[in-house]
Amino acid sequence: MSTTAEPSNLMESLVSLAKRRGFVYPSSEIYGGLNGFFDYGPMGVELKRNIRECWWRDMVHRRDDIVGIETSIIMHPKVWEASGHVAGFTDPLVDCKVSKQRYRADQLFFAAVVVDGKAVGYVSALESEDTGAELQAAAEQFKRKKAIQGALATVQVREFTEATEAEIPLIPSPATGEPGSLTPPRAFNMMFETNVGALKDASSVAYLRPETAQGMFVDFKNVVDTTRVKLPFGIAQIGKSFRNEITPRNFIFRSREFEQMEMEYFIHPNADWLACHEEWLRWCQDWLKSIGLPESHLSLHEHPKEKLAFYSRRTVDIMFKYPFGVQELWGIAARSDYDLQQHQKFSGVPQVFFDEAGKQKVVPHVIEPAVGVDRIFLAVLAAGYAEEDVKDEKGNVEKRTVLRLSPRIAPVKVAVLPLLKNKEQLTACARELYLKLRRRYAAFYDDGGAIGKRYRRQDEIGTPWCVTIDFETIEKDGTFTLRDRDSMAQKRITETELFALLEERVY
Ligand code: ATP
Repeated sequence: MSTTAEPSNLMESLVSLAKRRGFVYPSSEIYGGLNGFFDYGPMGVELKRNIRECWWRDMVHRRDDIVGIETSIIMHPKVWEASGHVAGFTDPLVDCKVSKQRYRADQLFFAAVVVDGKAVGYVSALESEDTGAELQAAAEQFKRKKAIQGALATVQVREFTEATEAEIPLIPSPATGEPGSLTPPRAFNMMFETNVGALKDASSVAYLRPETAQGMFVDFKNVVDTTRVKLPFGIAQIGKSFRNEITPRNFIFRSREFEQMEMEYFIHPNADWLACHEEWLRWCQDWLKSIGLPESHLSLHEHPKEKLAFYSRRTVDIMFKYPFGVQELWGIAARSDYDLQQHQKFSGVPQVFFDEAGKQKVVPHVIEPAVGVDRIFLAVLAAGYAEEDVKDEKGNVEKRTVLRLSPRIAPVKVAVLPLLKNKEQLTACARELYLKLRRRYAAFYDDGGAIGKRYRRQDEIGTPWCVTIDFETIEKDGTFTLRDRDSMAQKRITETELFALLEERVY
């Protein structure tokens, strides 16, 4: 029997487990770390690879209409002029002149404190799970501190981007709590700049790509000319992207170097783009569920028409319930023919596909599902993490930490444990099975410590199954004990059954 409870601070528990068990480390930690950068440890790198590989298998190998590419991180600077990133890939930046803190104006909120219908001051708060409640509490505190009598109105939450020139000097900085130090928002370009070649001047400026998507547009013609793709078809890519985020935060959710899995699905300009968009929206949700994300944590956010870029017909984000609130996990955008048209214009090279049926050249439109590997990584950790009270063989209650990861993505699929370390027959049999398993699956051999401890170690890294080699194995029928991570139930199975189980569940 076990009881499960969500820890009071799930994020803290996740960061601690990630460090302790070798999933994620701060980058350059011995030098104090570098804000917005992370390293993936031995367990993390396996989990990340598995997420990537599952996506690639399902998106590319298991479909006839999608091909993969891998393009360079640094591309011709003209690419980013054509795409609009040089002029417009900006976030609104606000400085606090006193604390030197920087904020994204669209993540900074404020409200007037209104007492008996009159504004008596302002309060501010950074975006959180419940910014409204935080601002209301701040308003009540403001009123108490200033000993103002009267009825406090419910606060009207506003984004700092909406603050008027007259209001800005009156809004307190979240760092100091005092008004007067926040600057008006200004556009901050998030692309990392570098120089290509020995000369460092304006002509050598290049950028680390802020998205992988432009690689697919720039190589569109190459793919069309060198493969036998027919509309509709997709080009997929997995790779690193870089954004000089103003406020990297929430662990690996928003970092400055991250990995994207993007796919551009090219369709005929007259095709039913809405139906295609819906289809991809469904596909992406189904895929997330196939790697173990519970439906209860997923929701959709339709971008309001007035907030869409002028070329975008529709964008829907798949949102995930992270410990710090519901946030974007996967964006699915209908981008019209904007990107190909832009590259055609800037490069002078036609970006067309010959439509056999209509006997004409067309510039295809595109549906783009774009997701971050690191955000999926954090989502599967958050959804899978549990702390449980369980009873050991002697009936004592102890705590177990378990990561309920899908077998598809778990870093280790199966652990092989000889019951005793000092019994040659047991260890030899266990090693033989382990060597057979590891040819196909990420397996782990562990003979150190009490069996219960060894189970707990595997629970913490999300290993779905442990196999124990005991005396029955060597003296009787060759079967072993299979222990299930989630139910902790044990049963005896044969080697053939074990391989069949793995074949079925690790796909
Ligand atoms: P956000 O609004 O959260 O900044 P975005 O809408 O700018 O994200 P896109 O440009 O649509 O993001 O990028 C596609 C995907 O890449 C996102 O859905 C997300 O999963 C991932 N992503 C974007 N920025 C980051 C980042 N700084 N760190 C980690 N993943 C990111």
